[in-house]
Amino acid sequence: TKEKDWSEKTRTEEQISEPEWVNNVEFFITKKLGVWCRGPNGEWHLGKIQSASGDAACVVLSTTEVVEVSMKEILPANPDVLEGVDDLIQLSYLNEPSVLYNLRVRYSQDLIYSKAGPVLIAVNPCKNVQIYGNDIRSAYQKKGLVAPHVYAVADAAFDEMMREEKNQSIIISGESGAGKTETAKYAMQYLEALGGGNFGVDNEILKTNCILEAFGNAKTSRNDNSSRFGKLMEIHFSAKGKICGAKLETCASPILKERLNLKAASEYNYLNQSNCLTIDRIDDVQKFHKLMEAFNIVQIPQEYQERAFALLAAVLWLGNVSFEVIDNENHVDVVADEAVTNVAMLMGCDSKELMVVLSTCKLQAGRDCIAKRLTLPQATDMRDSLAKIIYASLFNWLVEQINTSLEVGKLRTGRSISILDIYGFESFKNNSFEQFCINYANERLQQHFNRHLFKLEQEEYEGDGIDWTKVEFKDNQECLDLIEKKPIGLVSLLDEESNFPKATDTTFANKLKHHLKANSCFRGERRGHGFRVSHYAGEVLYDTNGFLEKNRDPLHVDLIQLLSSCNCQLLNLFSSKMHDKSLKPASLSESMNQSVITKFKSQLFKLMNKLEETTPHFIRCIKPNSNQLPGIYEENHVLQQLRCCGVLEIVRISRSGYHTRMTHQDLAARYGFLLDTKLSQDPLSTSDSIMKQFNLPPEMYQVGYRKIYLRTGQIGLLEERREYVL
Ligand code: ADP
Ligand code: MG
Repeated sequence: TKEKDWSEKTRTEEQISEPEWVNNVEFFITKKLGVWCRGPNGEWHLGKIQSASGDAACVVLSTTEVVEVSMKEILPANPDVLEGVDDLIQLSYLNEPSVLYNLRVRYSQDLIYSKAGPVLIAVNPCKNVQIYGNDIRSAYQKKGLVAPHVYAVADAAFDEMMREEKNQSIIISGESGAGKTETAKYAMQYLEALGGGNFGVDNEILKTNCILEAFGNAKTSRNDNSSRFGKLMEIHFSAKGKICGAKLETCASPILKERLNLKAASEYNYLNQSNCLTIDRIDDVQKFHKLMEAFNIVQIPQEYQERAFALLAAVLWLGNVSFEVIDNENHVDVVADEAVTNVAMLMGCDSKELMVVLSTCKLQAGRDCIAKRLTLPQATDMRDSLAKIIYASLFNWLVEQINTSLEVGKLRTGRSISILDIYGFESFKNNSFEQFCINYANERLQQHFNRHLFKLEQEEYEGDGIDWTKVEFKDNQECLDLIEKKPIGLVSLLDEESNFPKATDTTFANKLKHHLKANSCFRGERRGHGFRVSHYAGEVLYDTNGFLEKNRDPLHVDLIQLLSSCNCQLLNLFSSKMHDKSLKPASLSESMNQSVITKFKSQLFKLMNKLEETTPHFIRCIKPNSNQLPGIYEENHVLQQLRCCGVLEIVRISRSGYHTRMTHQDLAARYGFLLDTKLSQDPLSTSDSIMKQFNLPPEMYQVGYRKIYLRTGQIGLLEERREYVL
């Protein structure tokens, strides 16, 4: 009788939970069904159970080797027909080895996209794959292709925007190097092709993208693929679905400042070889032309273009500026070499003046102003601050130029699709303030993800009275509390300590230990100044070293003055902007008093609020190996990333969930006219009639108090019908 139960279950493709499958071991033995068997190093092998008694089983591995293992180390494998399915919800057995294997099989065939219910999983191919051509794009547009693809996600977002008249967002997340920026570009490309026409030259938005990339890449020379800023591209559409403008927002610029780590001089030595204004040596000629084209689209005048490059070169050269210690108190002079001469030349100022600004600070003593020499660390900090100010101003200015050019007319219909490409979770050997900011942002995004995929969904089912078994998920509220809770959370403690002149990294670490020990996501290091946070994606050990310093954001008056005195219109513009800020009383108190983390937090909240008003579409990018090599699939690395975003839980919930929902009113309004019978006054019974007339199987939908809930794919059937009749 057990056997009968079993086969019924497999027929309905319902998931067999682990304890249940253990009761069916006999069935696995007689039918020679595959199982996953965990090896001594945690790796999974495919095999077949030969015999089992009690907790032990004999398994023949696919290598013909026979091993004896505990039943705890065995999980059911999926039948061959399910090998490489494109949506993980189709798997009969949902367990980690099965999911890993399925993605691996697909990856080995260059099928880099898969679905986990509503979420698109994109595994970085680390090589060019021929899946983005015009033919493929138009196939998705015509709905001739439905296989998982970033194009399909963009297409769905577009359709939903048009159908529901609601703004959409495509939220792309993943580790650094997982393919987020590339994915965002393809999404944009698709939407531009779809909504192009009214917008002059096509792909304009995409082309401007390369300006940011060119400037984003230049600052860390070797790392050509890591975007140092989060960006939100908002594409606006007319009521007819034509693009009518776009807006680019870079999120959380404080990170940008922190991110601009000037590297050792040797890294920039390539600039030594030539006149610094010949920038085409920085990158290959083709990319440079693309950049120039983009500059022209954005309509940046030639003169300003040259200035922008000169300033970029100045930033790079600043990294080569060095100091010599001149006394035993560690005071310094700037070394008068070509680095400082070049910076001055590129900025349009006197090199002597520049050297003074970099090695002294002016102090007000009564009515007099005296110059005090800086120590080596202070001077280094001053130099880096100058580079950061120039760079950040340049970057913001470029974003402004791009936005001015993208905003065609002020006709906003309110319909838009936003694409978010944000820096992913980071955990290094050494983690400092900037990792903390990044991981905090990711923690917020994760909550958004959880809210939409687990919480809101289940609350809605329960609230609307439909049949529902709850699925558990990993809530990260505790970690967010640890960071944000007032008055005692990481952020407020950091601000408090930053305002306290005598505080040090050690006092800060102690303060954290003292106040936060009750939170289960926090762990203080017994010695030293580290602390650990259990993030949703894993535990990270932070070093408080530099936290306080980086959190204070002093306005360097001397530097602003220097910029205003330069013979360079851009620098003058930048300095007047900063000056304005420091003069206006309201923003004075704001920008002077607000710490870096507080500004970061408020920017993050703004972003989250914006996202909350949209219907989200999630894309999770996966890095198959840590070396960006094609064809290498490191299971543990992949597994870690899948666990982070709760892939198994998502599949579980969407397998039993209802992807599409519509109020009874909306359903009646859209499909009511298809009914053979007279339309009833009551929208709920109209919903019922529609479902019956179109023969939707009862397990494919549920009728709630307010809404109708449909499984994936069902709405398509109704739409087809509608199109046909119209
Ligand atoms: P992230 O933004 O997540 O840090 P990127 O999007 O910059 O990562 O991707 C890193 C690199 O991986 C890219 O420079 C590219 O070489 C490769 N890559 C990512 N996605 C794709 C893709 N879909 N096709 C081909 N190569 C890709
Ligand atoms: Mg990126």
